[in-house]
Amino acid sequence: MKTTIIGYPRIGCNRELKRATESYFQNRISPENLNEEARALRKTHWEKQIRKGIDFPVSNDFSFYDTLLDTALLFGLIPERFATLPQDPLIRTFAMARGYEKNGYQASALAMKKWFTTNYHYMVPEVDESSRIGLSGHKPLTEFREALSAGLLTRPMLTGPYTLLRLTRFSGETSAEACAQGLIPAYGQLLSALGNAGAQWVQLDEPCLCLDMDADEKALFHSLYQSLGERNPGVKILLQTAFGDITRVYDSLSSLPVQAIGMDFVEGPDNLLKLESDGFPEDKILVAGIVNGRNVWRNNYKKSLDLLSRMSKHLPEERIWLAPSCSLLHLPYSLAPETALSHEIKEILAFAEEKMDELGELAILFSEKNPEKHSLLIRNQQRFGEAEKIPGRIIPDVRKKTSSLRGQSFRRMPDADTRKSCQQNRLRLPLFPTTSIGSFPQTQEIRAMRRRHRKGEVDQSTYETFLRNRTEECVRLQDDMGLDVLVHGEFERNDMVEFFGEQLEGFVFTENAWVQSYGTRCVKPPILVGDVRRPGPMTVDIWRFAENCTKKPVKGMLTGPVTILNWSFVREDVESTECLLQLALAIREEVLDLEAAGCGVIQIDEAALREKLPLKKKDWKAYLDHAVNAFRLCHDGVRPDTQIHTHMCYSEFGDILAAIDAMDADVITIEASRSALSLVDQLKESPYARDIGPGVYDIHSPLIPGEKEILSRLEILLSTFRPEQLWVNPDCGLKTRSQKEAEQSLRAMVNAAKTLRETY
Ligand code: GLN
Ligand code: ZN
Repeated sequence: MKTTIIGYPRIGCNRELKRATESYFQNRISPENLNEEARALRKTHWEKQIRKGIDFPVSNDFSFYDTLLDTALLFGLIPERFATLPQDPLIRTFAMARGYEKNGYQASALAMKKWFTTNYHYMVPEVDESSRIGLSGHKPLTEFREALSAGLLTRPMLTGPYTLLRLTRFSGETSAEACAQGLIPAYGQLLSALGNAGAQWVQLDEPCLCLDMDADEKALFHSLYQSLGERNPGVKILLQTAFGDITRVYDSLSSLPVQAIGMDFVEGPDNLLKLESDGFPEDKILVAGIVNGRNVWRNNYKKSLDLLSRMSKHLPEERIWLAPSCSLLHLPYSLAPETALSHEIKEILAFAEEKMDELGELAILFSEKNPEKHSLLIRNQQRFGEAEKIPGRIIPDVRKKTSSLRGQSFRRMPDADTRKSCQQNRLRLPLFPTTSIGSFPQTQEIRAMRRRHRKGEVDQSTYETFLRNRTEECVRLQDDMGLDVLVHGEFERNDMVEFFGEQLEGFVFTENAWVQSYGTRCVKPPILVGDVRRPGPMTVDIWRFAENCTKKPVKGMLTGPVTILNWSFVREDVESTECLLQLALAIREEVLDLEAAGCGVIQIDEAALREKLPLKKKDWKAYLDHAVNAFRLCHDGVRPDTQIHTHMCYSEFGDILAAIDAMDADVITIEASRSALSLVDQLKESPYARDIGPGVYDIHSPLIPGEKEILSRLEILLSTFRPEQLWVNPDCGLKTRSQKEAEQSLRAMVNAAKTLRETY
């Protein structure tokens, strides 16, 4: 059996690309220097694949920002505002990714969206009437040749036409169908060029085949590939999918003019059922994604061998290539630099490099007559056996609690309307109450202090005094500005998930396991390895301190169970529904402790609730039921006069409205201004009854909103929301803003609320 991967991380094992790119942004290195760094990284990555025994290494998976953006640029999917930019590919790429402002020329960046259910963000291509669709670059060719000149035959990859069209925004008279007219010849031209340069295979990524597809979408997909087939001069095409099953198009696979099909057998178990019931096209290769490409655990060889033997009943092993379930982009590079993780835990982890070892080992094992006797399998089984002995994997007390909760649905008493009047009696808030989402600017000073504390250069008590001073300043400032419900500022948190992960039992943290989130931004998600338990209060002290600095109510700030889970690497040995209940119980304990300490307003952020919505609508209900129930468990024990807030970072609200309502929070704050108040239209038809704070200004922008601007947004909001339900707050936390930006914006916001009150 041959092995391949379908994409490799590109940021560099020490984030070299991030550093070089940021230096380039600051004009500290030249474009040539940046390109040199990129070439060196590509070479390292190819050599790594060869050294790990990968039979078919991949190219063009490198990107300075995002591969979908690269593909859009390659084929001229460029909106008018970027049309007159200099031709230089670096300038164009970064202009479209980050916005462009020079010599009076101004163009805002493309939108950014989450890539399927991962935490990676892609740039949303835009096409308008000015776009000239056609082959207008040579990145895949250049990188293919670059590898070839190093003696390596690679398989260039790029986004396929169906996924490209489905993820693109069309404006004016343009449409996917019209764009396809220009796009297919351009793909054809590129394939010829790659073939002439010596490429044998080209990989076209089509993860959108794992989404729901209506009849028109299926027709578009087929016509794209039929026309591509007619133009293809003979380079072989691998149609690569990921993140789910392709049962929607499985029936027609044999008629597709492609020579290999890549399927995800980890997240798309139905792929195997289809293969078993319908067989697999006789003239094609199956790229079998059996090693999880986006989670950090070792592969269980026994299970994979069972899977492979089921597959090989339907096609000969020469036609199966072993692969990860998706690009390794979503994994850290290597376990080698992790020195702080315990030996036992490292034994059961596998990052990108270790995943490539696993592919090779599985290929060896599959060719054995008696794999059970092979040392590789024995060793692999030992790893899983040892893992059971890792302390904290199963905590009987925790399991006892969750099993008594299983199958129950949680409900807070009394109903929301009754609660609202109890809360009003306690809090006595004015009309249009003002608040913020939680974090205040994480200044250089705060970051530096945290770094020094981590390194042990600053002792615990100095650090805590420092944090308290910042907190006190922050609370007094809000008081002075006239906000109604205050926050403590979250200075003690570097990240809203890591902060809780570090205080809960069940998580481990890496030192260097960075994963690209977007552009030069990387995240280092915690790894959930054991049962979750809360050893003691996590936020009560800092809340109490803040509360003592003011007469106004201070919100207790927590991250919700769904968000903690979705932003971590999750367990594979336990159902995620179990982990969710455990997390909800831990947050519930914190909620009750805050309440007992006198806290009357508690915010439980569920910033990531929407992100993990399953790709197919039929699976939404199950996901949302669990998510909503977990959230309700967090607050079903509080008194009627304790006000529960939640916060969400997106305003695609309409299609999950029932679920958001079912969370039964008293107040929701939600992003709205960044998306031009699209919330208002979404809620015109089906009004939302509870208290709601649609963000009145975009916190991502350094521009300071004026009072007038905020007032006019509030007027628009009042066309959809009743005055009694409307809160006034920014879109999200202020962590990334400067002190001055945060302060001036909040002052404008408070003034707008005051002005509005005068007319009601
Ligand atoms: N309370 C968090 C903050 O203000 C919420 C962040 C978020 O929604 N992503 O930073
Ligand atoms: Zn947010």
